[in-house]
Amino acid sequence: MIRQAKGKTPRRPPPKKTSNNQKDPVGVYCRARPLGADDEECCIEVISNTTIQLHAPDGLKANRNGEFKETQYSFKKVFGIKTTQRELFEDVAKPLVEDLIHCKNGLLFTYGVTGSGKTHTMTGSPGLGGLLPRSLDMIFNSIGPYQAKRYVFKPDDKNGMEVQNQVDALLDRQKRDSQSTVPKTPTTRRIDPEFADMISPEDACRADGVDEDSSYSVFVSYIEIYNNYIYDLLEETPFDPIKPKPPQSKILREDQNHNMYVAGCTEVEVKSTEEAFEVFWRGQKKRRIANTQLNRESSRSHSVFIVKLAQAPLDADGDNVLQDKNQVNVSQLCLVDLAGSERTSRTRAEGSRLREAGNINQSLMTLRTCIEVLRENQMCGTNKMVPYRDSKVTHLFKNYFDGEGKVRMVVCVNPKADDYEETLLVMRFAEMTQEVEVARPVDRPICGFTAGRRQRNQAFKDELTRRLEERGGPVDGEFPTILNQLLQSFPPLPPCELSGPNDDVTLPRLIEALEKRHRVRQMMIEEYNKTANMLKSVLQEQDGNIVSKENFIHEQRGKLGEKDKMIQNQKNEIDRLEKKSKMLEYKIDILQKTTNIYEEDKRSLQHELESREQRLQREMSEKRRMESRMQGIVTDAKLKWEKECERRVNAKQLEMQNKLWVKDEKLKQLKAIVTEGKTENRQPQRPSREKDKVPPKRSASPSPAPTAPPVRPLHRRSHSAGGERWVDHKPTSNVDLDTVLQLNLPNAIKVNAPNEKALSKCDKYVLTHQELASDGEIQTKLIKGEVFRTRGGGQAVQFTDIETLKQENPVVASSRKRRSSESGQDGEPMEGDWTDVETRCSVALEMRAGSNLGPGYQHHGYTKRRKP
Ligand code: ADP
Ligand code: MG
Repeated sequence: MIRQAKGKTPRRPPPKKTSNNQKDPVGVYCRARPLGADDEECCIEVISNTTIQLHAPDGLKANRNGEFKETQYSFKKVFGIKTTQRELFEDVAKPLVEDLIHCKNGLLFTYGVTGSGKTHTMTGSPGLGGLLPRSLDMIFNSIGPYQAKRYVFKPDDKNGMEVQNQVDALLDRQKRDSQSTVPKTPTTRRIDPEFADMISPEDACRADGVDEDSSYSVFVSYIEIYNNYIYDLLEETPFDPIKPKPPQSKILREDQNHNMYVAGCTEVEVKSTEEAFEVFWRGQKKRRIANTQLNRESSRSHSVFIVKLAQAPLDADGDNVLQDKNQVNVSQLCLVDLAGSERTSRTRAEGSRLREAGNINQSLMTLRTCIEVLRENQMCGTNKMVPYRDSKVTHLFKNYFDGEGKVRMVVCVNPKADDYEETLLVMRFAEMTQEVEVARPVDRPICGFTAGRRQRNQAFKDELTRRLEERGGPVDGEFPTILNQLLQSFPPLPPCELSGPNDDVTLPRLIEALEKRHRVRQMMIEEYNKTANMLKSVLQEQDGNIVSKENFIHEQRGKLGEKDKMIQNQKNEIDRLEKKSKMLEYKIDILQKTTNIYEEDKRSLQHELESREQRLQREMSEKRRMESRMQGIVTDAKLKWEKECERRVNAKQLEMQNKLWVKDEKLKQLKAIVTEGKTENRQPQRPSREKDKVPPKRSASPSPAPTAPPVRPLHRRSHSAGGERWVDHKPTSNVDLDTVLQLNLPNAIKVNAPNEKALSKCDKYVLTHQELASDGEIQTKLIKGEVFRTRGGGQAVQFTDIETLKQENPVVASSRKRRSSESGQDGEPMEGDWTDVETRCSVALEMRAGSNLGPGYQHHGYTKRRKP
């Protein structure tokens, strides 16, 4: 809160905010008084117990163009004319008194125009005591038995309270008693008949939950605020009838709890309702006198009656008040009868009285402004400065609104038509006031002593008195009663009155009785001594027992201490181990997590490995397939090229042979010409030469010489009766294929390489030739031919036939694309192969022995030599 440093005194730090943030709205009650005897028109109607309705009076309605106006106002409670003072007290003031007794502050004020019943409500009249006497009565009814002796509590002049020691309190009491002016004790009171009826003991009200183990004292102050000056109505000033001294005004101060107080104000300790009210009445009288003397109007002043309740816990014995200032709690209830709220113009005041009226009005205006600002701050969250200091009334009650406490207001209304307009203003202000919230007072902490101290102390005192009374005087111990009993057990004394000097009966009888008694006494002494001795020994024994027990206890304590230490050590150890185990658990957790991560990694890597292996496998098989395919292609290409080369060589050979033959022929012709010239004219005949000459070459393939001679069988070997004889040529490079079908030729000459000798003996030739087929498989070809004897005496082979044997893997074969020229399963050459074989055969046919057929066709016949 922003505060303006307005005053000259240095400001204290702002009050610390109360710990509780619970707030209650200002409790606003409305009380309507009955219409006065002279008044006719009633402008107020109580609609419900919370709502009141105002009607504009007839005259006013006429003034305002007949406009009919009704307004309703709601309050916490509305009290109609029939409401009794007691009912009002029960609702309005009782909770405040209860709070006071429970160490909480309260503020109760009456507000309204003059004559509306403010004083009636607050003070009342004989037989109709108001809120003030009733509050006092309730206070004393509640704390009556628990009041501290006078002067035990002593105001410290700073709005606080001290606890005096018993001696000082007693001295103060004696001093007071010596002053005869003050009535001595409440028991000898003479209640002023003026106000005797205002206190009604039959309505006794009591607060609940009064702490019996506290001691209480009530202090009252009574001040009047007039023209913004504060006057102490209880101040004792020596009265000077000749020159009356004008009352001195007081100033306001703030105490350490930030409560405002009237500095130097009289605080009277009162011990009963009557005494308190008597003090109030004294102030009241003084006020009236001052008003008359100073020509003031009482309705223009605010009267503030402050009831302070000091309470402090009893000491541990429950006998005296605890001598500790910090344990003293002071709460206060302010009962305020405000000045009439009407505007100045309404009273026919003049001159200085008008000025005073203005000031009074000013303080009510300030009250209004403060309430407005407070309301605005609370509702809008603003932080405007509340002008409490602008008037004494508001300044005095500042902490009720700023700090904490319960605030209640009774708005008094007079239903008469004259007051209508003022009443409207009062209603508006009252309605606004109840929108202001005040912090709820907090409960004070209680002291640490056990409860019931007072009762115990009282019970003890009662018992003491009872016993003293029983004994009929102060006698030491219980001995006399026992003595009496014992005396009664002695034999009775005989009458000891002597009849004469010669009476020798009485004395001996007395002597005898006394001796008897003596004996009894002796016996009793003996008995007593015996018992005493016995008791002594028992006690000694008990003592010994106790000592040994004590020793034992001491021993046990030592052991217990050791055990405690051990337990402590073990606890520490447990703590340590627990910490360690927690640490390990944590580590395990981390390791577990790491393992999981690694396992995950491993799984994914394995997965990757597998997929890569699969890919590799796939690629390998693909590679193998490609390899074999490439091999096939290479072989095919090779064969094709070989064939092509062969064809070209053959063609070239044929061409060359033809050229040779032509030259030969020319040579022959030349020879013939030469010879003819010698002998006779002989025509060269080519066919003749053909007769003795093997045509050099025959070919089905394109031949450069279209005139080539036709193939004609050479000299065939005559077949012997035993059938054909074969030369079985198997090159050493052949591989044994372990086939089912094997070449089996009876009577054959097996050779690795053909020689002339073998050929000369046979007429058939077969070559087992192995080669790689286009599909990558080995295929075996049996190339057959017939052996001819050449004219030159050599051997020639004419190839006639090729058989193909082929092995194949059924799986591979099925997946392979078949070619039309491929062999059948049985190895028999198929239709398409014939061309190939034919070509080969024809090529072979035209070859001369020794010509080169290709890699597998090395023919080692004799080296053919051309005839020159
Ligand atoms: P104020 O203090 O507001 O100026 P008072 O309390 O002095 O007014 O009341 C003026 C008159 O009205 C008094 O004579 C009083 O007895 C009377 N009066 C006020 N209120 C009531 C009421 N509720 N019942 C009966 N009489 C009332
Ligand atoms: Mg009054």
